[in-house]
Amino acid sequence: MQLSEQMTPFEAVNYFFLRAAEHQQLSDTALAMLSGTFRELRVQVPFRRDDGTMHVVYGYRVQHNAARGPYKGGIRYHPDADIEEVRALASLMTWKTALVDVPFGGAKGGVQVDGRALSKSELEQVTRRYTDQISHIIGPTRDIPAPDMGTNAQVMTWLMDQYGRKQGHTTQIVTGKPVPLGGSFGREEATGRGVVVTMEAALAELELGEPADTTLAIQGFGNVGSWAARIAAERGYRVVAVSDIEGGIHAPDGLKVDELLAHVAETGTVVGFAGSEPIANEDLLELDVDVLIPAALGEVITHENCDRIQARLIVEAANHPVTPVADYALADRGVLIVPDILANAGGVTVSYFEWVQNNQEIRWEHEDVNRRLELKLQRAYRECRAYQHDHHSEDMSFREAAFTLAVDRVVEAATLRGYL
Ligand code: NAD
Repeated sequence: MQLSEQMTPFEAVNYFFLRAAEHQQLSDTALAMLSGTFRELRVQVPFRRDDGTMHVVYGYRVQHNAARGPYKGGIRYHPDADIEEVRALASLMTWKTALVDVPFGGAKGGVQVDGRALSKSELEQVTRRYTDQISHIIGPTRDIPAPDMGTNAQVMTWLMDQYGRKQGHTTQIVTGKPVPLGGSFGREEATGRGVVVTMEAALAELELGEPADTTLAIQGFGNVGSWAARIAAERGYRVVAVSDIEGGIHAPDGLKVDELLAHVAETGTVVGFAGSEPIANEDLLELDVDVLIPAALGEVITHENCDRIQARLIVEAANHPVTPVADYALADRGVLIVPDILANAGGVTVSYFEWVQNNQEIRWEHEDVNRRLELKLQRAYRECRAYQHDHHSEDMSFREAAFTLAVDRVVEAATLRGYL
């Protein structure tokens, strides 16, 4: 596949799969199986607005591969969550679950709706209807959804409840539930925590100095961005800029993240936080900081702005925030990128822990969950580096090493099952 900025999101993710396939000289059958998806479901989701009118939106569930275990992946509510985007995210899940070695495959769901424009009862209707429409292909040992952009523990509860009306109460049908309904301690902050853990592994290699002297800029202040900011600040790092869809804020001496969280709880946005200057989302990406953490949408670092990125380290909290063209340009400049399938794998790791606890009907302590998460991600980081070192370290970027290791594991499972 030709490297270009015109790639669809799925082609961009597949580009790295194809690079891995090249390194491993995969067979044509393996290429055919893993460069496509197993199943794609598109459903209409009609719902009644509070004003009495009917409205129709589209939803998707894409199952990419289940060689290593049941399909697993979040559900996104966003106007851009079209089939191409959901396909890309589903395939990323296959590589992510393999890389952190949890016994799942990869899937993703999406509903093309702006959740912020819906009332709570409209959101509940959309969720229950979407659940009904996909219920024949999900299941606690088949395909297990989770939260993603625009969805949260409340949405997961509606999904579990709706599924349970026909199938009987099934806690393990979904992860990211509220703790009183079978959720795991530590799931809510797991992705943000994983971002900080993998950032620290990378910082240790770069030898940048003390946390208080290490500056961070974070785009997106939802579940992942806000928890990454909070945990990084608790560990002494200087978070100098954050943003959300409304705009960004900048404070070179560091933002007081706990006060910022209170401001966001009150106003719904980071904008207008006392003691900070406004900054545009695009400018935040180009700040002179040590670490840049894109934690909102995909494809925000492209051939157009990659030359102006000043960070030494990019930790991909969001999925595919850097286009392949920008990825190679940044690597040439010596910028270290912790790829999405490693950096944001904390969420699916604790989702797996939640599923394990649900299956055993037990609950682990919060510290226990955090400790297991840290160990798993630190190990995954080390394994990627070791793989890069042992294989083709001169012509394999860290991202390519992560993909190739993940592809190896999926191919091994598919071969053992007799598919390849
Ligand atoms: P969220 O809905 O909780 O938050 C998204 C944030 O991004 C919000 O602050 C929103 O205002 C901001 N945003 C949206 N559009 C924007 C734009 N155009 N410019 C700037 N900011 C914008 O979502 P989340 O769960 O935090 O997910 C964020 C990213 O992390 C996504 O790419 C998601 O796929 C990825 N991710 C999430 C999880 C998880 O467990 N939630 C796990 C792995 C990866």
